[in-house]
Amino acid sequence: MGSPRLLVVHAHPDDESMWTGGLLAKHVRAGGEADLVMCTWDAGTPRHGELLRAVEILGLPRPPILLRYADDRVPASAPGRERFCAAGFDEQVRTLAGHIRELRPDVVVTYDAFGIYGHPDHVHANRLTCAAVDAAACGTLYQRNGAPWQVRSLYFATIPIWMIEMIADDIFAGVSRTQLPGTPENMIDVHLDVADVVEQKTAAIAAHQTEIDRSRTIAMFFALPDDKRDRLLGSENYLRRDLVPGGCDLT
Ligand SMILES: [Zn+2]
Repeated sequence: MGSPRLLVVHAHPDDESMWTGGLLAKHVRAGGEADLVMCTWDAGTPRHGELLRAVEILGLPRPPILLRYADDRVPASAPGRERFCAAGFDEQVRTLAGHIRELRPDVVVTYDAFGIYGHPDHVHANRLTCAAVDAAACGTLYQRNGAPWQVRSLYFATIPIWMIEMIADDIFAGVSRTQLPGTPENMIDVHLDVADVVEQKTAAIAAHQTEIDRSRTIAMFFALPDDKRDRLLGSENYLRRDLVPGGCDLT
């Protein structure tokens, strides 16, 4: 079999580049198929425009699929639409399961159960993705939404403790370590070296200019010395959950 077909589910524009940009760039460069579902920020908003530019930089063959919900903290992200975290869960599962049945990915990637660092939209994306992957495989559920499809493995993007420790003094000065996220090394199943695509990944993150302007954390991240930033961006870390015996390797 060729390379696995990937589906990546993210809550906000910029997360695709920050947390999975190396995976996507490497996978597409190697000739693999990949799609992105973006849960918040509707078409026509500034961050949607930046997202289109970012996925072009990463080399995705198709524009992202939009679920068109509002960002938890920014109603203008999807005028007149519900907040992602507050909308009806069954409808969300049905919609995402329908996309999974249509795209037939071997591997689905989203955030870990803590949403990497606790953002409620990220936590919700994890829960929705887990539920939709199971629902997509269930032939008696949503029978009018396509033929059942069994995803082989789920991968959850996470941030290892060593990364948090590397940036703690620069970005989280004064914050107690017990309040910072971070996954212990022995829990991480996949350390993906993406150093060879770090320039592409950095450019994709930089395409999200309004977020760099808004977020103090991202601005501080971009102010890190180049070698330190490249070391952080050159590593992506995932937890793996196989859904069929043997599952499916990420690369
Ligand atoms: Zn986010």
